[in-house]
Amino acid sequence: MWNCPFCKTEIASSADACPKCGRSFGAATAQSTAASSRVIVTGLDLPFSDLVSLLIKLTFAAIPALCIIAAVSAIIGGFTMVLLAVPARAR
Ligand SMILES: [Zn+2]
Repeated sequence: MWNCPFCKTEIASSADACPKCGRSFGAATAQSTAASSRVIVTGLDLPFSDLVSLLIKLTFAAIPALCIIAAVSAIIGGFTMVLLAVPARAR
């Protein structure tokens, strides 16, 4: 047993439609999914200035990550260069 999302009437879980308000639950599920995704879009519907400041913050937050990636690739690259250089020097 569960409740109709529209009128909160308790209905059998096997029912396709509410016996009280007659709405179909397949459509209800699709509608609530659309409604929840609309809520997410509304949550992201920031004023343009807020969006710009958010993007700037994200960019600044990405700089340390980029530094770490650059450092790691430099270390790996340097290590690879050493590995390649050692046999060349031994020859
Ligand atoms: Zn109902």
